[in-house]
Amino acid sequence: MKFETIAIHSGNQVTDKHKPVVQPITLSTTFEHGNEGGILYTRANNPNRQSLEKVLAALEGGADAAAFSSGNAAGTAVFQGLEPGSHIIAPDDMYHGLRHSMVQLFAGVLEVTFVDMSNLEEVKTAIQPNTRLLWVETPSNPLLKITDIRAVSELAKARGAILACDNTFATPVFQNPLALGADIVMHSSTKYFGGHSDVLGGALVTKAVTPFWEKIKTIQQVGGAVPSPFDCYLLCRSIRTLAYRMKGHAQHAMILAEYLMNHPKVERVFYPGLKNHPGHEIAASQMTGFGGIISFTVKGGAAEADAVVSKLRFFANATSLGGVESLIERRASVEGPTTKTPQNLLRVSVGLEHTDDLLEDLDQALL
Ligand SMILES: *Cc1c(COP(=O)(O)O)cnc(C)c1O
Repeated sequence: MKFETIAIHSGNQVTDKHKPVVQPITLSTTFEHGNEGGILYTRANNPNRQSLEKVLAALEGGADAAAFSSGNAAGTAVFQGLEPGSHIIAPDDMYHGLRHSMVQLFAGVLEVTFVDMSNLEEVKTAIQPNTRLLWVETPSNPLLKITDIRAVSELAKARGAILACDNTFATPVFQNPLALGADIVMHSSTKYFGGHSDVLGGALVTKAVTPFWEKIKTIQQVGGAVPSPFDCYLLCRSIRTLAYRMKGHAQHAMILAEYLMNHPKVERVFYPGLKNHPGHEIAASQMTGFGGIISFTVKGGAAEADAVVSKLRFFANATSLGGVESLIERRASVEGPTTKTPQNLLRVSVGLEHTDDLLEDLDQALL
């Protein structure tokens, strides 16, 4: 089966005698002993989560998947799975919530070194005898930095460390980290998988069922940060159109990136699809599309950037990304006082509105 077919058919499991075409939501928290599926209790598993995990594993080409109640819960499960005293190498530009998880929740338990992962020498230099995890996010949030997954996987293998990749921005439509050498893929399914800004979720997909993976499944089931059957249902529903939405997001993002690049009020555009992006060639070698997120800096400072945001009609000034509607935010304003993100940087989640309307809106806001 091809990607689009897997997305539509692989998760659906219908046991109802009326044979509905769409799998019903099974709200029951408990199941009779001795049932065919072997399901006991909904925290450990339920039919809707089984379907979601099945389709996620298939789309990423993994052996198994674990769905969580948020992307942060999924990422944090990986850190929880490490032995105390383990060392992590993580990107200097990454989703700030997971950075906080590493630094705050695991302070005194895990050691973390942040490096520019688009520079392999920095990654190499950071490796220590106790390095157990290389955490990659590519394209990264919010600077759209690109990491060479194949090259970093070689470094991880040589050290016997796990390579995990946050694939939220690319989605499996455009990038399959497991095929490029990663051991684990992480997603905030709140974003493109959900695609409509109405469900919170996260996921991990593993290349192989290893003792580390078994530990992660235990963290999922015993820790209990699991999605509800309704959340799983919504995600399965949205995943059916993921491929088509992603093609639209990427096509629109390219059009907007080229427009912004040529605008006199714009200082710099960060989009891996642009030939002048420093990671463009690596992105083109490991992705089949460049995604739907653009960042750009407005000439001036925070005030000039805020003025642009306030004039826009079709880009809601809101955090998050990956929905059908366009969103924009001045990223530094939500990342807190320690952020290194430029104060005049705007991150855009390019939606599926007609690009004529989006361009016209940007035109009047940047005037
Ligand atoms: C949103 C996001 C997360 C966190 O996911 P939540 O579902 O908000 O917990 C992690 N990584 C990236 C790249 C994200 O955009």
